[in-house]
Amino acid sequence: MIPIIKPAVFDEEAQAAAEAVRSGWLAQGPRVAAFEAELAGAVEAPEGVALSSCTTALHLALAAHGIGPGDEVIVPSLSFIATTNAVAHCGATPVFADVEDAVPNLSAATVAPHIGARTRAVIVAHQVGFPADLGPLQALCDAHGLLLLEDAACAIGSTYQGRRIGAVAAGHPGGALVAWSFHPRKVLTTGEGGALTLADAALAARLRTLRQHAMSVNDQQRHAVAGLLLPSYPEVGWNYRMTDVQAAIGRVQLGRLDAIVARRRELAARYGVALAGLEGVTLPVDPPWGTTNHQSYVIRVAGGATRRDAVLDALLRGGIGARPGIMAAHLEPAWSALPRCPLPATEAWAAESIALPLFHTMQDAEHALVVASVAAALAATTPDRRRPS
Ligand SMILES: *Cc1c(COP(=O)(O)O)cnc(C)c1O
Repeated sequence: MIPIIKPAVFDEEAQAAAEAVRSGWLAQGPRVAAFEAELAGAVEAPEGVALSSCTTALHLALAAHGIGPGDEVIVPSLSFIATTNAVAHCGATPVFADVEDAVPNLSAATVAPHIGARTRAVIVAHQVGFPADLGPLQALCDAHGLLLLEDAACAIGSTYQGRRIGAVAAGHPGGALVAWSFHPRKVLTTGEGGALTLADAALAARLRTLRQHAMSVNDQQRHAVAGLLLPSYPEVGWNYRMTDVQAAIGRVQLGRLDAIVARRRELAARYGVALAGLEGVTLPVDPPWGTTNHQSYVIRVAGGATRRDAVLDALLRGGIGARPGIMAAHLEPAWSALPRCPLPATEAWAAESIALPLFHTMQDAEHALVVASVAAALAATTPDRRRPS
């Protein structure tokens, strides 16, 4: 079986993890502090806060802004379900907005109709690595006094207007509050793990407090003083910490970011050439405003979910670990009862998308087998061929 992804982790990561274990400091400690500073540097943000996952990062970001019951947060349904769940975790109500047809992301045009008196925030996902068009979204949120929270779980190393997703710079939109994932299905991994990067140092300090039970004293401070240092707990916090073992792996992974993204883009470009011209197939390309890291290589197959599922089934039977491309939360039982507007573009993406295997150590023969299998599966499921002659 050719897998959808193999994490690009090697001996150096194993050694770093072992070294963290041997140091005796396993939970959040000096490696977490180093990792979050290096992450911030890698995405050109002033502050980084390491957390246990992207889901907890999204939740903590909303909670730190006091978003709760009675508030609405506009989200894409077309995302991994955690984007929507994070809103529920703080007691607020998600409001689904549609994505664009050409890019699987929210835009200012799809978000604007959903802004109302209760709206507090917009979560924009840079889906499967495609940068969202942040400029108009930031302007829309600024005009309405809304928080723009970026779900960049998939987008480390993607760029918007010449700078990395997460970059904070004068006159450059986005980057104010960005959530990352280091699950093995993403571009960089720490096993499980997440982070927020941001511009605001005071908010970063507050997030670091909230991630460890809102404790007034952190572990490193307690270790640094000779005598008694009693903590207090002025409010309710969470345990959303990353461990030093994870951070040790993450520091090595950060050093591979450029190479991994370059390799993914090279493999994707080769898919683009090899799969060009297949009828009814739309291939992923960079949007006019930026570049994708191809966290997933997602193609669209015309003909609805029935045909897509037939193609996927044929690929899987042939040993190709392809996956449905992008899910839609509103089609899942957990969220199907939520009142919403029609989401035609979301449903088309959810029905027609397929993610093909793409990983750092992919061999030429594996790449060629995926290409041949996709062509064969498409030919076998052409609507014309299935009609009785
Ligand atoms: C994977 C993913 C998440 C969840 O990340 P975890 O680190 O597993 O919590 C959230 N949003 C998007 C868009 C994702 O792809």
